[in-house]
Amino acid sequence: MEMKKNDIFEMDIVDMSEEGEGIGKIEGYTLFVKDTVIGDRARVKVIKAKKNYGYGKLMELLSPSKDRVAPLCPAAAPCGGCQLQALSYPAQLAFKEQKVRNQLKRLGGFAAPMVLPVIGMGTPYGYRNKAQFPIRRGKDGRIIAGFYAGRTHSVIETPRCYLGDPVNEKVLKIVISWMEKWGLAPYDEVNHSGLVRHVLIRTGERMEEDRQLMVCLVINAAKLPRAQELTEALLAVPGMTSISYNINREKTNVILGKEVRHLYGEGYITDTIGGLRYRISPQSFFQVNREQTEKLYATALDYAGLTGREKVWDLYCGTGTITLFLARQAGRVRGVEIIPAAIEDARANAKANGIENAVFYVGKAEEVLPRHYQETGENADVIVVDPPRKGCGRELLDTILAMEPERVVYVSCEPSTLARDLKILCEEKYELVKAQPVDMFPQTVV
Ligand code: SAH
Repeated sequence: MEMKKNDIFEMDIVDMSEEGEGIGKIEGYTLFVKDTVIGDRARVKVIKAKKNYGYGKLMELLSPSKDRVAPLCPAAAPCGGCQLQALSYPAQLAFKEQKVRNQLKRLGGFAAPMVLPVIGMGTPYGYRNKAQFPIRRGKDGRIIAGFYAGRTHSVIETPRCYLGDPVNEKVLKIVISWMEKWGLAPYDEVNHSGLVRHVLIRTGERMEEDRQLMVCLVINAAKLPRAQELTEALLAVPGMTSISYNINREKTNVILGKEVRHLYGEGYITDTIGGLRYRISPQSFFQVNREQTEKLYATALDYAGLTGREKVWDLYCGTGTITLFLARQAGRVRGVEIIPAAIEDARANAKANGIENAVFYVGKAEEVLPRHYQETGENADVIVVDPPRKGCGRELLDTILAMEPERVVYVSCEPSTLARDLKILCEEKYELVKAQPVDMFPQTVV
């Protein structure tokens, strides 16, 4: 259908985009409409029209969705972090289930995939154990911490994020007063000047006495000035276990640079998942939602169907989190991960938990597994993969197909690449038995 700027339509919002806009369809034409949610009926004005899709502005909410709720966070609308806060939690879960099913159908070519209801959280807030706050100069000249507004790089001052831990606010206050006291400038993206770019905060398990805290400042300099003063100020926060800074002098959106210098502590904090203790350094990947991670790993372990004898691979293993879960019930597990610091953590985690049947390799999964198989010809009973959003490399999938493990457990954070990769595995030898989504990021479209 032909769509022009300034056209006005009445439409039902049937889906949500990656950015959290409502999506309406008129005769196959897709319109993205900010400030609407699934279930709304709205009068919408077209503000930008391309050939197959366009953007609309909400003129009038004709009948609000029954799933609309008042967002908890006052910054929910401008902040780019939570796209789904205006949607009730059950509706968020239904949306996510549908998203997984749609991708498996469209990109995976599965006619009727078995997608189980999404496992949600009891209280879908305050779950993040990691936050990275950009530090910038506000319009009024004050130093501010917050989050990026949707699709931009302007920072909205939100030191209290409802997805994160309340302690973050305290830490940010300390860092900002330290900067003010010593005249240290926040980073300026445009001129690539200033010192403090981000503050990374990680928190361990929520047990009052036992809980550990990590603070890492990302700076645009070779050395942190006034480090002693910062350390002393931060040590006033109970549980402060690791203080460090990371050097990032590049003109880039990537938050962390390569080098970390430790100011206080051993360089890591520890957390427990499912009775196993894990250590976490600033650069290592660690799941941000503990409660849901336990459910995710329990599902992966269940699907692996281990009896105690199996030879298992855990590819993209991070700090060996899933690996150690598997190792407790397998004959032997080999973990592969690209970041050396994470593998150091993984080896230490195995040792600390008394696990002796896990071996770790640093390298690309798509290189390590094919090479190992070529050199040894050794098969596997179960292969678990947990790749980043871009999914598995083709060489890796080909090697899995050649090795013919009994079962493949694919843990994914991106349904589209999951569907693409499952298509490759299932065209040849495998059958998709079931998919169990777990909501790792309530209030967001991820
Ligand atoms: N299973 C782990 C980590 C999953 S995240 C957990 O649940 O904690 C994905 C991991 O893949 C990250 O640690 C990332 O560093 C790693 N990674 C990214 N590309 C890789 C590659 N080509 N080969 C191996 N690991 C890779």
